[in-house]
Amino acid sequence: MSSGSEGRYDPETLERRRQAAWRERDAFLTPALNDEQPHIYIKPSAPFTSGNIHIGHVRSYSIGDAYARFRRSRGDAVLFAFGFDAFGLPAELGAIAGGESPNDWVNRCATHMRGQLERLGFSFDWERAFMSSDPGMYRWSQWLFLELLKAGLIYRGTGNVDWCDNCQTTLASIQVEPGGTCWRCHGPVRLIELPQWYLRISAYLQENDSRLQELAASGIWDEVALASQQIVLGRIDGVELDLHDERGETLTAFTPHADSLAQARFVMMSARHPAVEEWAAEPEVATQLEQMRSGGWERSSREAETIPVVATRHVLRGPGGTLLPLLISPLVDGRFGPTVVLGVPTEDRTDEVIARRVGLEQDTVAEAGGDEAAAAGEAATQPATAGAREAVRYRAADFTISRQRSWGTPIPIVYCERCGVVALTHESLPVLLPLDLRPTGAGNPLAELEEFMRTTCPQCGGPARRESDTLDCHFDALWLWIPACVPARERERTLEEILALPDLRHWLPSERLVAGSDSGNFVFDQRIVTKALRDIGPLAFLADGEPFAGCLFHEMVIRDGRKMSKHLGNVVDPDELVALYGADTVRLAALLAARPQRSLNWDDSAVVRCHRFLTNVWEYSHSKLELVRELREQAPAGGRDGAQEGEERDKTEHLRVKLTEWCENGVKRITEDLEQLEMHSAVRNVMRLYDRIKDFEKKVLARQPQLSRANCEALIAALALLAQVLGPFAPHVAEELWIAFGNEPVSGVQTPWPVVSFGVPA
Ligand SMILES: [Zn+2]
Ligand SMILES: [Zn+2]
Repeated sequence: MSSGSEGRYDPETLERRRQAAWRERDAFLTPALNDEQPHIYIKPSAPFTSGNIHIGHVRSYSIGDAYARFRRSRGDAVLFAFGFDAFGLPAELGAIAGGESPNDWVNRCATHMRGQLERLGFSFDWERAFMSSDPGMYRWSQWLFLELLKAGLIYRGTGNVDWCDNCQTTLASIQVEPGGTCWRCHGPVRLIELPQWYLRISAYLQENDSRLQELAASGIWDEVALASQQIVLGRIDGVELDLHDERGETLTAFTPHADSLAQARFVMMSARHPAVEEWAAEPEVATQLEQMRSGGWERSSREAETIPVVATRHVLRGPGGTLLPLLISPLVDGRFGPTVVLGVPTEDRTDEVIARRVGLEQDTVAEAGGDEAAAAGEAATQPATAGAREAVRYRAADFTISRQRSWGTPIPIVYCERCGVVALTHESLPVLLPLDLRPTGAGNPLAELEEFMRTTCPQCGGPARRESDTLDCHFDALWLWIPACVPARERERTLEEILALPDLRHWLPSERLVAGSDSGNFVFDQRIVTKALRDIGPLAFLADGEPFAGCLFHEMVIRDGRKMSKHLGNVVDPDELVALYGADTVRLAALLAARPQRSLNWDDSAVVRCHRFLTNVWEYSHSKLELVRELREQAPAGGRDGAQEGEERDKTEHLRVKLTEWCENGVKRITEDLEQLEMHSAVRNVMRLYDRIKDFEKKVLARQPQLSRANCEALIAALALLAQVLGPFAPHVAEELWIAFGNEPVSGVQTPWPVVSFGVPA
């Protein structure tokens, strides 16, 4: 190459050259298992096969990739691979819009997205990438379903589910927007009653709670991720006490207002409470409850003013002797979980509203007990706090995992006229999803497909019907963090064999999950299922039941202070930016602008600034390389340029010492930043180091007319070091420079991390 072409920064050409070289040398293949070598599994988020990589993905993967490259550059073995989350409503709706089958749609999208990710130079091990909609993969969901069913952690229930009339489907709670509307169509959501499959997360809520302290103490769970776990958990501390009714029956009620027990005016029970039928046995009450459940109500009337409340005939003797009517309402669930609570209007605005609605004004409380007062037994002689004990409630509750849609994992269950509900065996997996389904957006085409529905019962051999519900893609997410640990050549094995592989024991738990701050629910449920699989057996080696040792949740990318949307016309197109400025610039800009834990308010000036920086580093480095070449020619190795050089060395030696210190400090800071995944700070420190290096030249030139060979060599050494620390953030340009400085292009997987004490040139 001529020095002329090296002088101009041409990201398109050099990035493609590097990417070809990486492919050529399989740079990012997961290294073979070696217990002697430090090894970590960095888990990026599993993207929905939405069709395009957006700028939020760029931010997410730039953080994870910088960390992966940093750890590799220090000699660690890194597993960095992901799977596409390909099932679910978004894919189904995308396919409907595109007039193709969901399978064709997701495969096309995944190919396109992979192309975009490769052009951005992310160092994923593509050999381990997978699609959750491949039969070899969704059998994981079916296997997990059967295991959890056997362990009693999946059950069939009839209950209230969120239902969208537009989409004709049930929604997971995370699919319901805060305003009570559907996440896809933004239409109203109703609660209706349907038979559903439930995941019993309640079995592990307490452990998920108690492990949080350990996670916080580890120091590698960032504050946003920890906070998300607390939010999903919804822990409320308070007291509970046993209340008795006129029959002497007992009901345990909870309240966070331990100091105001005597002010309780009613008791409210969740419609999902296990004992609700018993307390609503009175025919008229049962009818009302039934109406509330089957008729549903608008999500928008979930506020205290309008939410349904059923008054039972029961009255409980409250703390201090007050008589409290028992009400039933789904209002309890969202606030305290499926439990029973005391209504304390003086302490709680919502309780005040309810008291008014059911005619329990402060002054009329005594009457509210009415005639039943006598029936309820002995008078109020006890202090209000008698019998109260400390207690905890969690808002997180069991949720449905089945949906009435066709683009999802078939549930390995059949319904037999003779045997009832029959679970299939592991040997019969996978139950294949027909690929020629063409959903229209209404109903469930799977239920209408006779070839699929008609089957035989594995128990009696008689005719049976398949389950026509599929699993919500949220269920797929429960295992999506595991298969990246499985070498591609082992994928065809049975799941029992796969789960026994040493690879899983080697890589798990993942050292770091890097995902968006909206992943709290996914992570929470993955933590639940890990504990379940630990107790069932396959993940027994994860003693604390935690899939992620560390966790970084980054905030989203916004623009002009608002969420990006096509509607607002403020979407940033990464492809366009990469075409204009190159991948290194776009990645650098995504890292520089904000701490991962802060929203990144996108501003094109960051791209311009980063492009200027990389152009500058490139041109400056090449001009100094040319200079040192000339100097080396003038004074070949061994023969130094004598007395003159000696004098100048004396006048500038302290500057070279200073440069060494700057470099050492810079590397130290950048290393610390990277260890903490403080990418914005790391990039700033790289830029600062570059300024220092240029400053050195300025200071030298103030003392000598042109750089002496010793000073030029020092400058070159510093610039080579700059290329090394730039490696995790702008890997293409960094490796090109590293090579230009005379280093081996194929040594290891990438530019090695600098050894800080690189010494003062003699
Ligand atoms: Zn909808
Ligand atoms: Zn049967």
